[in-house]
Amino acid sequence: MVNSGDTIFALASGFGRAGIAVIRLSGPGSRGAVETLLAGGLPAPRRASLRRLRDPGTGEPLDQALVLWLPGPASFTGEDQAELHIHGGVAVRAAVLRALAGLPGLRAAEPGEFTRRAFLSGRMDLSAVEGLADLIDAETEAQRRQAFRQLEGALAGRVADWRERLVDALALAEAGLDFSDEADVAEAASAEAAAIFHAVGDEVGMELARAGTGERLREGFVVVIAGPPNAGKSTLLNALARREVAIVSPHAGTTRDVIEVRCDLGGLPVTFVDTAGLREAADPVEQEGIARTRKRARDADLVLWLLAPGGSAEPDGELGAAPVVRVATKRDLAPAPPGADLAVSALTGAGLDALIALVRERAELGLTGAGDAVITRERHRRALEDVAAALARAAEAQRIGHEELAAEDLRLAVRALGRITGRVDVEEVLDRIFGQFCIGK
Ligand code: GDP
Repeated sequence: MVNSGDTIFALASGFGRAGIAVIRLSGPGSRGAVETLLAGGLPAPRRASLRRLRDPGTGEPLDQALVLWLPGPASFTGEDQAELHIHGGVAVRAAVLRALAGLPGLRAAEPGEFTRRAFLSGRMDLSAVEGLADLIDAETEAQRRQAFRQLEGALAGRVADWRERLVDALALAEAGLDFSDEADVAEAASAEAAAIFHAVGDEVGMELARAGTGERLREGFVVVIAGPPNAGKSTLLNALARREVAIVSPHAGTTRDVIEVRCDLGGLPVTFVDTAGLREAADPVEQEGIARTRKRARDADLVLWLLAPGGSAEPDGELGAAPVVRVATKRDLAPAPPGADLAVSALTGAGLDALIALVRERAELGLTGAGDAVITRERHRRALEDVAAALARAAEAQRIGHEELAAEDLRLAVRALGRITGRVDVEEVLDRIFGQFCIGK
């Protein structure tokens, strides 16, 4: 796993008009590129310097920029890097990017390529890389905290500790095998190994038990709005979307105006999903999105079952196992039918605050303990499940006197831990993880 030796560049700030735009470069050609673009020599390392950028071909001035020269290995990627803080106009950006693209040995970066280089040069482990991706994607305060903890090594630290202890246990188990002709030495070593890996197994089990909250916080607490046709699902979702001040990203649906709304309910990420769009005939392009929404509905954390006046109070079988709250709709037309937990009118807004408060309360319950969970992704959970299974097998092997098998299972457990931080078996996950990044990170 080595870097290609190319020098890459990309706009690291957002698109659109802005005061400042940041372009970053990484790779062995960064120095030459900056020297070519600047009139005058390279700035002192890690010192911001106001310089004029010029077109390398014509010498025409392009912009005035704050230039940073960040020589490796003490840089984000571990390579020579530079940053150009230019004016954030569309034409300025285009001109500077064009000038860079014209320099020999430079090319535009792929999504996540800077971070990939940071990983390959050993500056970050894989769980920190995921933490960074989550931090960039974080939409609520709770998500930001969780992502930052992971970036800072909350998971990597636990994994390193478990790994070290299991390597000790493995060494003891192997010593036991070496001294198998001296019964008491062998027995003492294997008992000591067992004490260690049982303790690690218990800790891993505790983390697995709260894995759900960490994953839920990362993805958002999902509230599905379901009910018979015309119960008022879409109208309610739109009313919630208008009311909830901090809508993060309304996804424009194709069959209806909105099918999913991500909200920040007092710092907690809550996603409302309208199942109305699901029942409508879908053209093939939409089917992928609809399949995803259907899966979300099945995996919902809470279902709001809407009943219009005169409607059925019983949820249908398509829903998963999530708790159901019965919400009577169109309260302006008729009083709530018996069996409703809550009554609202999307038209007048009556009852919406109570509904939002209820959802917020359920989300808070569902995310309890998320602040301490270190498992935030299925990838981590699967690796730790493998660790737990290997340790359980090791315990069983020891119990029936198969010390070699116990040692082999300890080796497998150590290997599974290594997958989390990217020490082993890393190739298969790299493209998936780095592909989620934006360009310029
Ligand atoms: P869906 O099929 O469950 O998504 O239902 P819609 O949201 O499309 O609503 C069905 C009909 O009920 C529409 O004509 C809405 O305007 C109407 N409707 C929805 N909510 C209310 C409400 O709170 N009060 C009144 N009076 N009409 C409503």
